[in-house]
Amino acid sequence: MQQENRKIVIVGGGISGLTTAYYLEQQANQKGQAIHTTVIEEAPILGGKIATERSGNFITEGGPESFVTRKREAWELCQELGLGDQLVGTTERGKNYILHNGRPEIVPMGPGAAIRTPLLTLKGKLRVLREPFVPPRTDRADETLGDFLRRRVGAEMVDNVVAPAMGSVYLSDVNKMSTQVVFGQFADMEREHGSLVKGMFALMKQRRTERKLAAENGQPVKKEKLPAFVTLRKGLISMIETLAEKLSGDVMTGTAVNRIRHNATQTLSYQLDLSNGQTVMADVVVLAIPTFAMADLLAEYDTAVAQQLRAVQYNSVTTVSVAFNKSDILEPFDGFGVVVPDREASKLLAIEAVSNKFGHRSPDDQVVLRAFVGGYRHEALSQLPDGELLRLVRDELAAIFGIQAAPTFHRIFRWQPANPQYPVGHLEMVAAIEGKLQPLLPNLYLTGSGMRGIGIPDCIRQARETAGQVVEQLQKQHAAA
Ligand SMILES: Cc1cc2nc3c(=O)[nH]c(=O)nc-3n(C[C@H](O)[C@H](O)[C@H](O)COP(=O)(O)OP(=O)(O)OC[C@H]3O[C@@H](n4cnc5c(N)ncnc54)[C@H](O)[C@@H]3O)c2cc1C
Repeated sequence: MQQENRKIVIVGGGISGLTTAYYLEQQANQKGQAIHTTVIEEAPILGGKIATERSGNFITEGGPESFVTRKREAWELCQELGLGDQLVGTTERGKNYILHNGRPEIVPMGPGAAIRTPLLTLKGKLRVLREPFVPPRTDRADETLGDFLRRRVGAEMVDNVVAPAMGSVYLSDVNKMSTQVVFGQFADMEREHGSLVKGMFALMKQRRTERKLAAENGQPVKKEKLPAFVTLRKGLISMIETLAEKLSGDVMTGTAVNRIRHNATQTLSYQLDLSNGQTVMADVVVLAIPTFAMADLLAEYDTAVAQQLRAVQYNSVTTVSVAFNKSDILEPFDGFGVVVPDREASKLLAIEAVSNKFGHRSPDDQVVLRAFVGGYRHEALSQLPDGELLRLVRDELAAIFGIQAAPTFHRIFRWQPANPQYPVGHLEMVAAIEGKLQPLLPNLYLTGSGMRGIGIPDCIRQARETAGQVVEQLQKQHAAA
């Protein structure tokens, strides 16, 4: 029997909202379910934090600029969308640096380099080596990433290496970040194997066994080796553009959802009031928006839930991309980027060497650097006016790399608010909120970077899971009807 068309509204047109709509259509189609999706986005354009500007021979990423392949979801989605030939990897030889006494110091990658590095004192290095002998914590309670790593590898390693590196990825302070959300697999490793080093060895052993078994069974042994980070040739916005093209439902931009009304006695039990004065009816609503925006829409149903969602802090960051003539750079930098520890005088959070990482984004005679201002370090600086911000970044680049030349090009993107800073216990809080909302607002789902992971692959994983839950629930309801 053909099912009636179920109306699903997805609020938020970032990667999470669009991917939810995409997987909903895919999965419903596979199950023979008739659905109609509508994505509603407040901003005039789709993409949320994904913001690519294409101008002349420059491709500038204002927000994310690549994604990891270790988590396969974004890679797989690009393949599914037919963007496989657009994927560009970073070169293998990328070096990463940490600012040390005002100068970029290479992050040691091998044992020899680790012994020689000035980033840690001898005491700090010996403390890292003691990791396999540090007794594990056995309870499952969440803790800050700073506390977790300080227990395992010592304070010096955290303050001098891990905190700036993680801080530049999450724009957050490791001493406030939940380990379970951002480093969950390492906490599991400690519990299961007693130490991170032992856990790594166990993982390597397991992979060797899997390869051996595969060889014995005549299966292909070598897994495709992917670059650690990839991007899309014409910018990450290609993902957003392609998702929007593939959707058979509706997409509305420049329209906010201001209120959600629920009436369980109606067939289409949700009514969404839009900023353009219209209303939209739905059977299912998915909120793929930041937690503070979820709080606004849910406050009339549960004030405690709204308070918890609003309590998730979002930091502010501004990215400043600057290009220089290659001929003006006296001492070329050979790394992918530099991150800045708290003890350094620099006002920046990190600097990415865009043209070293992805050469296709700028003409060959240009060097492009992108500075991160704000985040958990000097957050107020992210709000400086454009001229002052550019001056600050130029002064920093002069101090760190000796670049005195005037830029040939610059672009500023402001993210206020930017990323959520997951507090300790965040995952439990999210699960409790979902449990509380389920009977109150059935067929309403929460997804997106505010929930269970910030990176693009994390957002896609959550969107796929949310779509799966919706389709499963609709099937159950149909069977029960
Ligand atoms: C500077 C920066 C650099 C980053 N770098 C990387 C990186 O290199 N790699 C990586 O993997 N990740 C990176 N991230 C993280 C990643 O970009 C984000 O976590 C991800 O894009 C968030 O997607 P989202 O769809 O969940 O949320 P968003 O992109 O925030 O989308 C939510 C959308 O909802 C809309 N909205 C809000 N309220 C309403 C409403 N009431 N009605 C209608 N619409 C509404 C908003 O306008 C927005 O467009 C970076 C983030 C930032 C800020």
